[in-house]
Amino acid sequence: MIVYLSLGANLGNREQSIDTAIELLTQQAGPLIKRSSFFYSKPWGFDSPNDFCNICAAFDTDLSPLELLRTTQSIERQLGRTAKTATAQNSLPLYSDRTIDIDILLYGDLHMDTPELTIPHKNMEKREFVMLPLQEIAPHLPFFAEK
Ligand code: AMP
Repeated sequence: MIVYLSLGANLGNREQSIDTAIELLTQQAGPLIKRSSFFYSKPWGFDSPNDFCNICAAFDTDLSPLELLRTTQSIERQLGRTAKTATAQNSLPLYSDRTIDIDILLYGDLHMDTPELTIPHKNMEKREFVMLPLQEIAPHLPFFAEK
């Protein structure tokens, strides 16, 4: 199955964290098909002096969606992301600085919505730091069709 992932980092050596995550993903999820160039942006949803570096990458994986999520989460932990996104009292997510964040954007044509996993990733279309790198590697996707 072809899957599209978004990887972002805003702490430490961001490009190196992303490269290491890609390497671990090829070992644990399956071969890399394509990766975008690095895109830089201001933090979204919280204030921080540390800008984000983001890419999108496509892999060919035999893992199920949940197995893929376990794999991306274990790589996030391995690369030093300690706390998951906390939730404020108003139940909105509290975003924070992170060494690496890996989101599953698309898993073939699959649509799923469970407490653990929503695919396509919620809000991805509203985020330039997701859509610009995604367009670079997958301009054929329906999101990018001429309107
Ligand atoms: P965050 O810490 O912001 O990366 O959010 C991680 C949480 O989002 C995890 O606990 C996942 O279970 C959940 N989640 C829901 N859909 C997705 C997705 N498509 N990719 C990655 N995480 C997801």
